[in-house]
This record gives sequence, C-alpha cells and structure tokens, in this order.
Amino acid sequence: MRAEILSVGTELLLGDILNTNAQYIARELANIGVNVFYQTVVGDNPERLKNAYNIAVNRSDIVITTGGLGPTKDDLTKEIAAEYFNKKLLLDEKSLEEMMGFFKKINRVPTENNKKQAYFPEGCIIIENHNGTAPGCIIEDGGKIAALLPGPPKEMKPMFQESIIPYLKKFQDGTLVSKVLRVSGIGESSVDKEIGHIIDRQKNPTVAPYAKDNEVHLRVTAKGKNEEEARKLIIPVEKEIREVLGDINVYGVDEESIEEVIAKMLIENNLTIGTAESCTGGFVAGKLIDYPGISKVFLEGAVTYSNEAKMKRLGVKESTLNKFGAVSGECAAEMAQGIARTAGTSIGISTTGIAGPGGGSEEKPVGLVYVGIYMFGKVITRKLNFAGSRQKVRDRATFTILDLLRRELVKYLEK
Ligand code: ATP
Repeated sequence: MRAEILSVGTELLLGDILNTNAQYIARELANIGVNVFYQTVVGDNPERLKNAYNIAVNRSDIVITTGGLGPTKDDLTKEIAAEYFNKKLLLDEKSLEEMMGFFKKINRVPTENNKKQAYFPEGCIIIENHNGTAPGCIIEDGGKIAALLPGPPKEMKPMFQESIIPYLKKFQDGTLVSKVLRVSGIGESSVDKEIGHIIDRQKNPTVAPYAKDNEVHLRVTAKGKNEEEARKLIIPVEKEIREVLGDINVYGVDEESIEEVIAKMLIENNLTIGTAESCTGGFVAGKLIDYPGISKVFLEGAVTYSNEAKMKRLGVKESTLNKFGAVSGECAAEMAQGIARTAGTSIGISTTGIAGPGGGSEEKPVGLVYVGIYMFGKVITRKLNFAGSRQKVRDRATFTILDLLRRELVKYLEK
C-alpha cells in the first residue's frame, strides 16, 4: 500500500512551525510496514489544496491529511475531501453532542462555526477527538483510503494511535515488529562495515542503519504470523549484531536514551552523582535530570565557568590552572574530584573545553574538550576533539561524557 502524508497549513509553509506531524506519521507507518511514497505540504489556499489533494489521492492508496479541520472558513480539508469523493457533508448528532460537552468542560461557549466540525462526508468512519473539538474521519472509496486528522499534535497523535493504526493493521497479513538497537562509540560507516553482511541478508528480519547526531540506530524489523513470532525472529539477529559490534557499544533499545540507561544503573545501585561543568554549561546535569526519579541519586550540578568558580566551588588548585590551563585533563580531574567531595557523592563528572567559535589556539583548538569521571577514589580523564558549531561541540561533549560514564558504570557493576 502506497501512502502519502498531506500536511495542510500556511504556518508550515512559512516556516513558523515544524512539520512534526509528518515525521511522526511517517515513522509510525514505517513501523507497521506501510510505505510512505510522498510527503506534501500545502497552505490553506482552496485551489492549491484541491490540487494537492487530487494529486495525492490519484497517486496513492492511502492519503493521511493533518490540519484544516478547524471551525473557520479557511479550514477546508474536509470539504475538499468530500468534494473529491463526491460525498455530501452530513451532521453527526453524536459528534455535535460530544463537542458541546467538550466546550462545557473547558468552560467555553461554542460559536455557530464550531458546528461545522460535526459535519462529515457521508458513510465515513468518524474518529473521536478526546483532546480537542475537531473529530477526524476515514473515507473509504473506490479502493482508496483517506484519513483526515486535526493539526495539533496533542490531538492528532492519540487519534492516530487509537484509530488509524488498528484500522491500517487490518489490511496487513501478518504482524511487523521493530526493535531499535542504539549504538554509541562507533560511526555509521564502521557499523556498516562490521555488520554489512547482516544488513545484506535483508530478508526477515531486515536491518536498517540510521545515523543520528551522536549515535547510530539499527532498526531490526521482523514479520511474523503474530507479534510473538515476529519478536522471536528478532532475537538471534539482535544477538549476532551485539556479538559483532560488542555488547558494550549497544547502549539501549527502542526509545531508551543514554541518560535513562545511566539513571537506572545509578538508582538500582544507589550510586549518587554530582556534575561540574564548564563548556557544557549544565547540559549534562539537564540530561540526567530529564529522567524522572533521578532525585534519589543526583545531588548537585555546578556550572563553574570561570577559573574563580573552579577554585572556589570545586577546589581546583591555582597551580593546576596556571600550569595546565582550565582546558586540561588535570583541571577536569580536579573538577570531578571536587564536585564529588563537596557534594558528598560516590561519583563526580566534569567537562571543560573550548566550544568556540572563538578562543581556540594551535595548541588548544576549538572543539577540544576534556572530561573527567571520579568514581570510588579513582579518577579518569579523556581528551576529546569535536568538530562543528558551538552548539554541536557542547551537545557532543555532553553525549560523550554520559557515554563514558555508562561504560565505566558497566565495568564497575560487572566486577
Ligand atoms: P484546530 O481545530 O485547532 O483549528 P486544525 O485541524 O484546523 O485544528 P490547523 O489549524 O491547521 O489544524 O493547525 C492548528 C495547530 O496545530 C497549528 O497552529 C500548529 O500549532 C499545529 N499543527 C498543525 N499542523 C501541524 C504539523 N503538520 N506539524 C506540527 N504541528 C502542526
């Protein structure tokens, strides 16, 4: 089945908002094995929307639109879809009642225009919207499927999960299951080289690599009679990939982030942590704090940007700064030790570097970052070099210190 995502909204064309709906829908469709052949964006202009709609339905089996289901005159998606399929728009009493209930709940009075949202192309399947006023619908006609969803992601996503996915799954023989293996510390081309033979087998399961900012994702997708059978097919392929790449380099699966993996290890083993950051300016602490429940183990994060702060807050020695500079392994080591000592934590981690764009020298170029990890009386440091903008250097340094910490924790916990 060929699918097309048609995103409606002038705000998208102007670049005022990012088309996250298309990204979300594309990813979800890929997960259930529906091929997306086209993604189109069109504004609220009736003629252009009509054209885009005609093209989309003609060349695809499934067209999913988001946006343009609102109460105003320029919200036209439903009208244009009804016209294309030659269907009348009829009032659905149940939707009208629910809409009235929704307005009452949020203490607002509906306008006469809102009623427009309770009219649907005859014979369609109506999709309830529990988070807003515009229900969606599915039109089936002449072998084509047209799904109409509202624009706001917090309305569209639950409707997609609750209605569109189960609806589309009915058309599929068998079940597709995907598992994403998250790989750190190895670049995309090396991953490709190492597991190229597994990727090339490309039958069932298939393996597809995706390069991300600091990591590589490997999506293993299997098709089985049911979910259990598909999951079983993934097991030996995952094992083989882990063996070839090294288990330590697969830091997580599916939606698991690096900070989540670390947070779980820290909490399970009751290991407290403090962070001392210079160039990353709180990114490392921020990532760890993203994980709910981290308060049990994350005691303190210090952003010590100036030399003074490094000395005063962390006890970095003046002689260290004079002899080696703030961007040095020696300073990173004292920062990591300093935060663990003063915050009273089992682990202290630190970053100090030159994020740029200015401030670099031949000896210490932009992108040079030292990180330190203090754990149980021992401190290790690493010298890292990153390319890219100030933001990229800081992002990469953040990911790398977290990944190094993860590796150290795995080593320590295996003992
Ligand atoms: P409403 O009933 O709220 O008017 P609608 O279906 O008419 O919904 P739009 O008016 O097109 O939707 O968009 C409403 C809001 O939804 C936009 O201002 C934007 O914040 C968000 N939105 C719309 N389309 C997208 C998209 N493709 N990706 C991300 N957000 C979107």
